[in-house]
Amino acid sequence: MIDRNIYDVIVIGSGIAGLNVANSLRDKKVLVVCKENSWDCNTFYAQGGIAVPVDESDINSHIEDTISAGAGLCDRKAVRVLCEDGLRAVRDLIDRGCPFDRNEKGEILYTKEAAHSRNRIIHSGGDATGREVHRFLMSENKSGLLYNSTVTELLIEDDICHGVRVWHNNELRNYYAKAVVIASGGVGSIYEYHTNSKTISGELQGICLEKGLELRDMQMMQFHPTVFIHSLGARKQLLTEALRGEGAHIVDADGKRFLFEYDDRGELSPRSLVSRAIFEHKKKSGKEVYLDLSMFDKEFFKKRFPTIYFNLKDLGYNLPEDRVPISPAFHYAMGGIKTDLDGRVSGMKNLYAVGEVANTRVHGANRLASNSLLEGLVFSKRAVENIKKEKFDFEIKEFDLKEETLIKSGDKEIKNELRKLMWESAGIVRSRAKLENTLIKIDSFLDRDIGKFLKLRLKTSRNIVKSTIYQKESLGACYIID
Ligand SMILES: Cc1cc2nc3c(=O)[nH]c(=O)nc-3n(C[C@H](O)[C@H](O)[C@H](O)COP(=O)(O)OP(=O)(O)OC[C@H]3O[C@@H](n4cnc5c(N)ncnc54)[C@H](O)[C@@H]3O)c2cc1C
Repeated sequence: MIDRNIYDVIVIGSGIAGLNVANSLRDKKVLVVCKENSWDCNTFYAQGGIAVPVDESDINSHIEDTISAGAGLCDRKAVRVLCEDGLRAVRDLIDRGCPFDRNEKGEILYTKEAAHSRNRIIHSGGDATGREVHRFLMSENKSGLLYNSTVTELLIEDDICHGVRVWHNNELRNYYAKAVVIASGGVGSIYEYHTNSKTISGELQGICLEKGLELRDMQMMQFHPTVFIHSLGARKQLLTEALRGEGAHIVDADGKRFLFEYDDRGELSPRSLVSRAIFEHKKKSGKEVYLDLSMFDKEFFKKRFPTIYFNLKDLGYNLPEDRVPISPAFHYAMGGIKTDLDGRVSGMKNLYAVGEVANTRVHGANRLASNSLLEGLVFSKRAVENIKKEKFDFEIKEFDLKEETLIKSGDKEIKNELRKLMWESAGIVRSRAKLENTLIKIDSFLDRDIGKFLKLRLKTSRNIVKSTIYQKESLGACYIID
């Protein structure tokens, strides 16, 4: 075993959850592993902001809003931890110098997003919160960072994780550690239409399934209602919820605000409801649905939502005057690797999962807007506190470098077919007949001569489909029509 490949802690993922773990373990030898560049993660693309109780008196209200959005599936204890620890974590982030938008008096600005009972979303760079937070966390980072590296295996024996196998520059390497933290995000790339970074494809969830580790609530997948999907490239342009929070309307081809036919709260209804209403209205009318931004003053819009303004300008739209055609798209995985409230993976001694990849039931059946960056901050910190307390008195075991073939010819076609199948059967509106059909197809793909990366995606997808079939009735974001 090469000594330089041994660490105190290995972190898989360079988003808010992974970087916050690494930055909070200054006195340890930490390695952060990520695919592509460090910024190529969902954290970087986050727009709206971070939801946080405005002060102690707002904690209970934030808890109730989160639980109400979660449609009965939230763990109240987890939600209390999110909001109580969240207030401290965000204050700490601000004190450390992370820049958030302020008014002329220097006070932090709070905005509103759907299903929050008050303005409690802080933001940065207008609509570039994720980019600014990521930049800040990277500026604090002192750990080793292994870029362009994909974890292909967790090195597990007897309920101990000894490290990870990584594919880097066409070469396999084993890295060892006393504790391993999975912070690899959600599953976006297994859906045809999604808002996620291309690095997010659910491999770690697949590896956990292979190791017999439990995923929970995988039927709970969230679709964002306002996405511009007519662009090339897998990742589609999100139009943040804050636009509706600050007054944007959703209209049909005749300019009618049809959402009120579905819910009295109109544009401020919970995400899953707005997504379904748009989906159904488009299907009924056969026409486009639009985001109408014409109520915004141009200079204000450009300053408040610069990312959207310039990205849409590149695509030929003159905002806020032009209406933007929108569609729901896959956005966030509430389901994930089952952990306790310290991020520990059930049944393992030294394996943790934090951020979007984890499931603590903090979001229940439907995530409240802007609660996920907060989740990343809070649960990464709790995992760190637990790692600091633990002794991990075991001998690290060396593993050989044998690995299945990672990519085979023909994988790409199956991957694209899977994305379509998942969108059509495990999407916004699901039917059992289609789900059963997808299950048969996935099993037949798994029987073929395929590479490991595809196999892991298929296993994660299979788990989403099976969990949906087991779901007795519609709940939160999981909407089943028969
Ligand atoms: C467009 C968009 C806008 C959003 N807006 C908001 C918002 O305003 N507020 C909010 O709270 N939330 C928002 N979200 C959700 C939020 O951004 C994410 O849930 C959160 O950033 C996830 O953080 P994370 O650290 O868990 O994972 P990520 O930030 O997604 O990072 C995952 C990391 O894991 C790495 N990785 C993945 N697989 C592997 C592998 N096999 N091997 C090695 N590395 C791997 C990736 O390379 C990446 O570095 C938004 C999401 C998107 C996509």
